[in-house]
Amino acid sequence: MPGTVTPGFAPDLDRTRDAIASSTLSHGLMVLGDRWTTAVLLGAFTGVQKFEDWQSQLGIPRSTLTDRLKKLVALDLLRQRVYQQRPQRCAYHLTQAGLKLYDQVLMIWMWEKRWGSRKGMLPAKLTHLPCGHHFVPVLACSACHHKTGMNDLQLTLKINHKLLGTQGKTVRSSRVSGSDEAGMGLGLRVDRWSLLIINAVILGCHYFDQLAYVLGIASSVLSRRLSGMVDTNLLLCQQDQSDTRRNIYRLTPASRDLFAYLVCFSTWASRDHLHQPSSIRPIHKHCGQAFVPQVLCSACGDPVKPWEVSFDLPTKTFVTA
Ligand SMILES: [Zn+2]
Ligand SMILES: [Zn+2]
Repeated sequence: MPGTVTPGFAPDLDRTRDAIASSTLSHGLMVLGDRWTTAVLLGAFTGVQKFEDWQSQLGIPRSTLTDRLKKLVALDLLRQRVYQQRPQRCAYHLTQAGLKLYDQVLMIWMWEKRWGSRKGMLPAKLTHLPCGHHFVPVLACSACHHKTGMNDLQLTLKINHKLLGTQGKTVRSSRVSGSDEAGMGLGLRVDRWSLLIINAVILGCHYFDQLAYVLGIASSVLSRRLSGMVDTNLLLCQQDQSDTRRNIYRLTPASRDLFAYLVCFSTWASRDHLHQPSSIRPIHKHCGQAFVPQVLCSACGDPVKPWEVSFDLPTKTFVTA
Protein backbone atom coordinates (compact mmCIF):
# COMPACT_ATOMS: atom_id res chain seq x y z
CA MET A 1 0.00 0.00 0.00
CA PRO A 2 1.56 3.38 -0.91
CA GLY A 3 2.43 5.40 2.13
CA THR A 4 2.55 2.41 4.44
CA VAL A 5 5.52 2.31 6.77
CA THR A 6 6.97 -1.20 6.63
CA PRO A 7 9.48 -2.09 9.31
CA GLY A 8 12.80 -3.22 7.87
CA PHE A 9 12.33 -1.50 4.49
CA ALA A 10 13.99 1.71 3.40
CA PRO A 11 11.60 4.62 3.97
CA ASP A 12 10.45 6.91 1.17
CA LEU A 13 12.43 9.92 2.38
CA ASP A 14 10.55 12.68 0.54
CA ARG A 15 7.20 11.39 1.67
CA THR A 16 8.45 10.90 5.24
CA ARG A 17 9.89 14.43 5.30
CA ASP A 18 6.60 15.96 4.14
CA ALA A 19 4.61 13.74 6.49
CA ILE A 20 6.68 14.88 9.48
CA ALA A 21 6.46 18.52 8.44
CA SER A 22 2.69 18.29 8.05
CA SER A 23 2.08 16.08 11.10
CA THR A 24 -0.13 17.28 13.90
CA LEU A 25 2.71 16.20 16.19
CA SER A 26 5.14 18.78 14.75
CA HIS A 27 2.52 21.49 14.65
CA GLY A 28 1.18 20.67 18.10
CA LEU A 29 4.65 20.74 19.61
CA MET A 30 5.02 24.29 18.31
CA VAL A 31 2.16 25.28 20.57
CA LEU A 32 2.63 23.16 23.67
CA GLY A 33 6.11 21.76 23.20
CA ASP A 34 8.09 24.08 25.41
CA ARG A 35 9.04 22.92 28.85
CA TRP A 36 7.47 25.72 30.84
CA THR A 37 4.09 25.40 29.14
CA THR A 38 4.06 21.67 29.84
CA ALA A 39 5.20 22.18 33.42
CA VAL A 40 2.47 24.80 34.04
CA LEU A 41 -0.13 22.41 32.62
CA LEU A 42 1.11 19.48 34.71
CA GLY A 43 0.82 21.78 37.72
CA ALA A 44 -2.76 22.64 36.81
CA PHE A 45 -3.63 18.93 36.68
CA THR A 46 -2.19 18.40 40.15
CA GLY A 47 -4.29 21.24 41.56
CA VAL A 48 -2.08 24.32 41.28
CA GLN A 49 -4.22 27.41 40.65
CA LYS A 50 -2.28 30.44 41.84
CA PHE A 51 0.56 32.35 40.28
CA GLU A 52 2.68 32.22 43.45
CA ASP A 53 2.22 28.46 43.77
CA TRP A 54 3.43 27.77 40.24
CA GLN A 55 6.28 30.14 40.78
CA SER A 56 7.47 28.51 43.98
CA GLN A 57 6.97 24.97 42.64
CA LEU A 58 8.64 25.50 39.32
CA GLY A 59 11.18 28.21 40.01
CA ILE A 60 9.92 29.86 36.83
CA PRO A 61 10.76 33.54 36.17
CA ARG A 62 7.73 35.81 36.77
CA SER A 63 7.67 37.20 33.26
CA THR A 64 7.87 33.70 31.75
CA LEU A 65 5.04 32.47 33.95
CA THR A 66 2.92 35.52 33.06
CA ASP A 67 3.59 34.83 29.41
CA ARG A 68 2.73 31.11 29.60
CA LEU A 69 -0.45 31.68 31.59
CA LYS A 70 -1.54 34.32 29.11
CA LYS A 71 -0.85 31.90 26.26
CA LEU A 72 -2.79 29.06 27.90
CA VAL A 73 -5.73 31.39 28.56
CA ALA A 74 -5.62 32.56 24.92
CA LEU A 75 -5.67 28.91 23.82
CA ASP A 76 -8.72 28.43 26.06
CA LEU A 77 -6.94 25.68 28.02
CA LEU A 78 -6.98 27.69 31.26
CA ARG A 79 -9.54 30.18 32.53
CA GLN A 80 -8.61 33.15 34.67
CA ARG A 81 -10.70 34.12 37.72
CA VAL A 82 -10.06 37.14 39.91
CA TYR A 83 -10.33 36.08 43.55
CA GLN A 84 -9.00 39.24 45.20
CA GLN A 85 -9.42 42.81 43.99
CA ARG A 86 -6.73 44.88 45.73
CA PRO A 87 -4.07 43.95 45.02
CA GLN A 88 -5.58 41.96 42.22
CA ARG A 89 -4.94 38.23 42.41
CA CYS A 90 -6.09 35.57 39.98
CA ALA A 91 -6.60 31.85 40.03
CA TYR A 92 -6.45 29.67 36.93
CA HIS A 93 -8.58 26.64 36.24
CA LEU A 94 -8.51 24.07 33.47
CA THR A 95 -11.31 24.62 30.96
CA GLN A 96 -13.26 21.85 29.25
CA ALA A 97 -10.75 22.12 26.41
CA GLY A 98 -7.86 21.97 28.87
CA LEU A 99 -9.23 18.80 30.45
CA LYS A 100 -8.91 17.12 27.06
CA LEU A 101 -5.15 17.11 27.61
CA TYR A 102 -5.60 14.54 30.36
CA ASP A 103 -4.70 11.45 28.31
CA GLN A 104 -1.31 12.86 27.48
CA VAL A 105 -0.80 14.02 31.07
CA LEU A 106 -1.41 10.42 32.20
CA MET A 107 1.10 9.22 29.63
CA ILE A 108 3.69 11.69 30.94
CA TRP A 109 3.00 10.40 34.45
CA MET A 110 3.42 6.81 33.31
CA TRP A 111 6.63 7.45 31.41
CA GLU A 112 8.12 9.49 34.19
CA LYS A 113 7.28 6.82 36.74
CA ARG A 114 9.04 4.17 34.68
CA TRP A 115 11.94 6.05 33.18
CA GLY A 116 12.14 9.54 34.58
CA SER A 117 14.72 10.92 36.94
CA ARG A 118 12.35 13.16 38.84
CA LYS A 119 9.61 10.86 40.01
CA GLY A 120 9.13 12.96 43.13
CA MET A 121 7.57 15.81 41.19
CA LEU A 122 4.45 13.88 40.20
CA PRO A 123 1.92 11.98 42.33
CA ALA A 124 3.29 8.59 43.37
CA LYS A 125 -0.05 6.79 43.04
CA LEU A 126 -3.29 7.42 41.23
CA THR A 127 -6.61 6.10 42.49
CA HIS A 128 -9.55 5.52 40.15
CA LEU A 129 -12.53 6.65 42.22
CA PRO A 130 -15.29 4.64 40.45
CA CYS A 131 -13.53 1.32 41.20
CA GLY A 132 -11.56 2.46 44.23
CA HIS A 133 -8.26 0.91 43.10
CA HIS A 134 -4.78 2.23 42.47
CA PHE A 135 -4.19 2.06 38.75
CA VAL A 136 -1.78 2.69 35.94
CA PRO A 137 -3.12 4.17 32.72
CA VAL A 138 -3.44 1.70 29.86
CA LEU A 139 -3.36 2.81 26.23
CA ALA A 140 -6.19 1.19 24.31
CA CYS A 141 -8.03 1.46 21.00
CA SER A 142 -11.27 3.44 21.27
CA ALA A 143 -12.88 1.30 18.56
CA CYS A 144 -12.29 -2.18 20.04
CA HIS A 145 -11.02 -1.28 23.56
CA HIS A 146 -8.03 -3.64 23.30
CA LYS A 147 -4.78 -2.67 24.99
CA THR A 148 -2.54 -1.29 22.27
CA GLY A 149 1.21 -0.88 21.88
CA MET A 150 3.40 0.43 19.11
CA ASN A 151 3.69 -2.99 17.43
CA ASP A 152 -0.08 -3.30 17.25
CA LEU A 153 -0.32 -0.39 14.84
CA GLN A 154 0.36 -0.03 11.15
CA LEU A 155 1.40 3.51 10.26
CA THR A 156 0.35 5.06 6.99
CA LEU A 157 1.41 8.44 5.66
CA LYS A 158 -0.90 10.86 3.92
CA ILE A 159 0.52 14.33 3.47
CA ASN A 160 -1.69 17.11 4.84
CA HIS A 161 -1.08 19.84 2.26
CA LYS A 162 -2.76 22.50 4.33
CA LEU A 163 -0.41 21.92 7.27
CA LEU A 164 2.53 21.50 4.89
CA GLY A 165 1.70 24.96 3.54
CA THR A 166 1.96 26.55 6.99
CA GLN A 167 5.18 24.72 7.74
CA GLY A 168 7.34 27.72 6.77
CA LYS A 169 5.85 29.81 9.52
CA THR A 170 5.96 27.21 12.23
CA VAL A 171 8.31 24.27 11.93
CA ARG A 172 11.04 26.00 9.94
CA SER A 173 11.21 29.12 12.06
CA SER A 174 11.82 27.06 15.13
CA ARG A 175 14.38 25.00 13.26
CA VAL A 176 16.48 28.09 12.96
CA SER A 177 16.32 28.76 16.67
CA GLY A 178 16.90 25.03 17.11
CA SER A 179 18.73 25.29 20.41
CA ASP A 180 15.43 26.19 22.08
CA GLU A 181 15.96 26.93 25.71
CA ALA A 182 12.26 26.32 26.00
CA GLY A 183 12.51 22.99 24.25
CA MET A 184 11.84 20.62 27.12
CA GLY A 185 8.75 18.96 25.71
CA LEU A 186 7.74 17.03 28.78
CA GLY A 187 9.40 19.32 31.26
CA LEU A 188 11.68 16.30 31.64
CA ARG A 189 14.81 15.14 29.93
CA VAL A 190 12.86 14.67 26.71
CA ASP A 191 12.64 17.78 24.57
CA ARG A 192 10.70 18.65 21.45
CA TRP A 193 13.55 17.67 19.18
CA SER A 194 14.01 14.30 20.84
CA LEU A 195 10.33 13.62 20.25
CA LEU A 196 10.63 14.54 16.57
CA ILE A 197 13.76 12.37 16.21
CA ILE A 198 12.04 9.41 17.94
CA ASN A 199 9.07 9.92 15.63
CA ALA A 200 11.37 9.81 12.57
CA VAL A 201 13.01 6.59 13.83
CA ILE A 202 9.54 5.08 14.33
CA LEU A 203 8.86 5.97 10.68
CA GLY A 204 11.88 3.91 9.64
CA CYS A 205 14.71 6.46 9.47
CA HIS A 206 17.64 4.79 11.23
CA TYR A 207 20.67 6.50 9.71
CA PHE A 208 22.19 9.91 10.28
CA ASP A 209 21.71 11.11 6.69
CA GLN A 210 18.08 9.93 6.66
CA LEU A 211 17.31 11.76 9.90
CA ALA A 212 19.06 14.93 8.72
CA TYR A 213 17.04 14.85 5.50
CA VAL A 214 13.58 14.19 6.87
CA LEU A 215 13.93 16.61 9.79
CA GLY A 216 15.74 19.33 7.81
CA ILE A 217 18.20 19.72 10.65
CA ALA A 218 21.83 20.82 10.32
CA SER A 219 24.39 18.03 10.68
CA SER A 220 26.16 19.64 13.62
CA VAL A 221 22.91 20.10 15.54
CA LEU A 222 21.69 16.60 14.75
CA SER A 223 24.98 15.08 15.73
CA ARG A 224 24.85 16.82 19.13
CA ARG A 225 21.24 15.81 19.66
CA LEU A 226 21.83 12.16 18.75
CA SER A 227 24.78 11.78 21.06
CA GLY A 228 22.77 13.41 23.86
CA MET A 229 19.96 10.94 23.25
CA VAL A 230 22.37 8.00 23.27
CA ASP A 231 23.80 9.28 26.57
CA THR A 232 20.36 9.56 28.14
CA ASN A 233 19.36 6.11 26.90
CA LEU A 234 16.75 7.29 24.40
CA LEU A 235 18.61 5.82 21.42
CA LEU A 236 20.92 2.91 20.77
CA CYS A 237 23.75 3.55 18.35
CA GLN A 238 25.22 0.43 16.76
CA GLN A 239 27.54 -0.28 13.87
CA ASP A 240 25.56 -1.33 10.82
CA GLN A 241 26.28 -5.00 10.08
CA SER A 242 25.96 -4.50 6.32
CA ASP A 243 28.17 -1.41 6.16
CA THR A 244 30.54 -0.96 9.08
CA ARG A 245 31.22 2.68 8.17
CA ARG A 246 27.66 3.57 9.11
CA ASN A 247 25.95 3.71 12.46
CA ILE A 248 22.37 2.66 12.87
CA TYR A 249 20.10 4.31 15.44
CA ARG A 250 17.40 2.31 17.18
CA LEU A 251 14.83 2.97 19.84
CA THR A 252 15.42 1.84 23.42
CA PRO A 253 12.70 0.56 25.76
CA ALA A 254 12.51 4.10 27.21
CA SER A 255 11.96 5.79 23.85
CA ARG A 256 9.56 3.07 22.69
CA ASP A 257 7.53 3.88 25.78
CA LEU A 258 7.19 7.49 24.60
CA PHE A 259 5.06 6.26 21.74
CA ALA A 260 1.95 6.30 23.93
CA TYR A 261 2.56 9.96 24.72
CA LEU A 262 3.28 10.79 21.08
CA VAL A 263 0.06 9.19 19.86
CA CYS A 264 -2.07 10.87 22.56
CA PHE A 265 -0.46 14.23 21.88
CA SER A 266 -0.86 13.95 18.08
CA THR A 267 -4.49 12.98 18.50
CA TRP A 268 -5.18 15.92 20.79
CA ALA A 269 -3.45 18.30 18.35
CA SER A 270 -5.41 16.87 15.43
CA ARG A 271 -8.85 16.65 17.00
CA ASP A 272 -8.95 19.41 19.57
CA HIS A 273 -6.46 22.03 18.45
CA LEU A 274 -5.70 22.09 14.73
CA HIS A 275 -8.92 20.39 13.57
CA GLN A 276 -6.88 18.78 10.81
CA PRO A 277 -6.15 15.12 10.09
CA SER A 278 -2.59 14.13 10.84
CA SER A 279 -0.32 13.05 8.03
CA ILE A 280 0.77 10.09 10.16
CA ARG A 281 -2.19 7.76 10.52
CA PRO A 282 -2.09 4.67 12.69
CA ILE A 283 -4.38 1.74 11.93
CA HIS A 284 -5.09 -0.77 14.71
CA LYS A 285 -4.14 -4.14 13.20
CA HIS A 286 -6.43 -6.04 15.55
CA CYS A 287 -9.68 -4.37 14.47
CA GLY A 288 -8.59 -2.68 11.24
CA GLN A 289 -9.93 0.72 12.37
CA ALA A 290 -8.11 4.05 12.36
CA PHE A 291 -6.48 4.11 15.78
CA VAL A 292 -7.84 6.70 18.18
CA PRO A 293 -6.30 6.33 21.63
CA GLN A 294 -8.32 5.84 24.76
CA VAL A 295 -6.82 5.60 28.24
CA LEU A 296 -8.22 2.91 30.51
CA CYS A 297 -7.88 2.07 34.20
CA SER A 298 -5.64 -0.99 34.66
CA ALA A 299 -7.82 -2.19 37.54
CA CYS A 300 -11.36 -2.06 36.08
CA GLY A 301 -10.79 -1.40 32.37
CA ASP A 302 -13.02 1.69 32.25
CA PRO A 303 -11.95 4.93 30.55
CA VAL A 304 -10.23 7.33 32.96
CA LYS A 305 -11.64 10.84 33.39
CA PRO A 306 -9.73 13.61 35.15
CA TRP A 307 -12.44 14.24 37.75
CA GLU A 308 -12.54 10.56 38.68
CA VAL A 309 -8.93 10.28 39.81
CA SER A 310 -7.46 11.13 43.19
CA PHE A 311 -3.79 11.29 44.12
CA ASP A 312 -1.45 12.47 46.82
CA LEU A 313 0.03 15.83 46.04
CA PRO A 314 3.72 15.68 45.21
CA THR A 315 5.98 16.49 48.10
CA LYS A 316 8.83 17.85 46.00
CA THR A 317 8.84 20.61 43.44
CA PHE A 318 7.89 19.94 39.85
CA VAL A 319 10.92 21.03 37.99
CA THR A 320 14.15 21.86 39.67
CA ALA A 321 16.13 23.26 36.79
ZN1 LIG B 1 -8.97 -1.58 17.69
ZN1 LIG C 1 -10.87 1.57 37.74
